[in-house]
Amino acid sequence: MVNKKDLTGKKFGRLTVLEELSERSNKRIVWKCKCACGNTVNVKGIYLTTGQTTSCGCAKRKLEQKHLREAYNKKRIDGVAKQLFKGQEPRKDSSTGYRGVSKYYTRKSKELRYRAWITVKGKRYYKSGFLTPEDAYYNGRLVLEKEHLPERGFYKNEK
Ligand SMILES: [Zn+2]
Repeated sequence: MVNKKDLTGKKFGRLTVLEELSERSNKRIVWKCKCACGNTVNVKGIYLTTGQTTSCGCAKRKLEQKHLREAYNKKRIDGVAKQLFKGQEPRKDSSTGYRGVSKYYTRKSKELRYRAWITVKGKRYYKSGFLTPEDAYYNGRLVLEKEHLPERGFYKNEK
């Protein structure tokens, strides 16, 4: 082996090299590594030194979970919430395109946000902080309707 480096004890990302294995992969040295999560993996030295492999795969899995969660959240708005409120599609009669949804800017950072509101018996209720008018409608306005318009069926036992 030319350029043989002893990587024992070295750390690469979440991996700590434990020992050199006797087996070779395409003539490359394979190292037994312990990941910070507790898993043990065998990684080619070249992958370690070039930074290609920095965990047993758990870091990647975490990222995938994050993406899954984001996709789920998006779906929750696009799919589930819509499904839940089927037949209550927004009337396009306001500036945002959604009934009971208005734009505003956050006080400090001046970011565009959407606020859902409803007026019941002269009292106005709000839900704020939505990133899209659609989100404000399905997760704000329609929720407000359920909370404050009992005749629409959510709190049937309420007087
Ligand atoms: Zn790991």
